Amino acid sequence: MRFPSVAEAAGRTLGEEELAALARVVESGMLSGVWGGEVPALEAAMARLHGVAHAVACSSGTAAIHLAVAGLGLDPGDEVITSPISDFGSVAPILACNAVPVFADVDPVTGNLDPAAVAAAIGPRTRAILAVHLFGAAAPVAALRALADEHGLALVEDCAQAWLTRTGEDRLAGTTGVAGCFSLQQWKHITCGDGGLVITDDAALARRLRLFADKGWPRETGRHHVSFGLNYRMTELQAAVAGAQLTKLPGVLAARRRLAARLVDALAGLPGLTVPRDVERHAWWLFPLVLDPGGPDNREFAAGLTEAGVPARAGYLNEGLHCAPAVTTAPVYGSSRYPLTSPPADRVPRYGPGTCPVAEELIDRTLVVVDWNERYTDEHVDVIARAVTDLAGRSR
Ligand SMILES: *Cc1c(COP(=O)(O)O)cnc(C)c1O
Repeated sequence: MRFPSVAEAAGRTLGEEELAALARVVESGMLSGVWGGEVPALEAAMARLHGVAHAVACSSGTAAIHLAVAGLGLDPGDEVITSPISDFGSVAPILACNAVPVFADVDPVTGNLDPAAVAAAIGPRTRAILAVHLFGAAAPVAALRALADEHGLALVEDCAQAWLTRTGEDRLAGTTGVAGCFSLQQWKHITCGDGGLVITDDAALARRLRLFADKGWPRETGRHHVSFGLNYRMTELQAAVAGAQLTKLPGVLAARRRLAARLVDALAGLPGLTVPRDVERHAWWLFPLVLDPGGPDNREFAAGLTEAGVPARAGYLNEGLHCAPAVTTAPVYGSSRYPLTSPPADRVPRYGPGTCPVAEELIDRTLVVVDWNERYTDEHVDVIARAVTDLAGRSR
């Protein structure tokens, strides 16, 4: 049985609405979001959807995180605590701000930051926590926000995999921290190829984000540059597609949740593995299975799923971000490892195997991710359920 994927039309919600929006932009002759109407309309719709005051569009999810981290005004060598299981787009912006990523270990089931590990990682230079809602499961942002408030830190949420995720407190992901960052990259719930959005209730922060995304150029007062910034602007073409996609987001989530509920039900009581339980709050970017330690390892299990025709992978990452050469050995700027090892950082962070053992166990041994898609049918879910049940039974 063929499984539709987000990399093809059959697994996307791209259609007439996106084509009409693109035609409207092309016919207008204005493709730049600085002067066009699509970018402001997308920002307004995003802010409305989340019940926040501001949304700022930009060129990617990584750019969205760079905007948010840059907006915090960190000093070189300041530390940001984040998760070892994420896209590198969570980490690169920290380095781009001359700040130091510090990885805290994760929950053994969700793979989300463990508040106790975050608390233990807080030091004199810690300035922020960047929480990732992994695979669409809410990170414990209320606990992290309490910790951040207690220590005078900022909490930023990486919602790239968590469109319309609801937290344990029933808030939308992205609305507990000072800013929430979203991605519109091809592999995400909705897409315009590449694109990003930041939401915030903080008007001063929103202004800093806009300036940073546009070369520090406040357009209303002429051609001058009031602060350092890059060009992270979203185009009208991207915004037109993203705007149409945003209207389809509730339907995408409803379908993904309904299908996930079917698989969760089918796997209920199956020994040897754990699946997410909070079906209606999860955004189901991927469907994670966490195998019990001592059973088959995740590579074997994923290979079995692949053999049964189910699109699945072991571990999600080759290695945790805390073990990526980009932080363990590679130069960052020029031939130097600044800001990781040079002053003003006054302690060299510990990276590499052994520093986040729970994350390492997930990636190396227990985590399997199954591709998820709103275009699956009940029959697709039943094929997955049968394959998982067979493999779990075979290993006993
Ligand atoms: C995709 C992703 C990013 C980066 O987004 P891009 O749009 O690819 O730059 C960041 N964090 C997480 C968790 C992601 O899944």
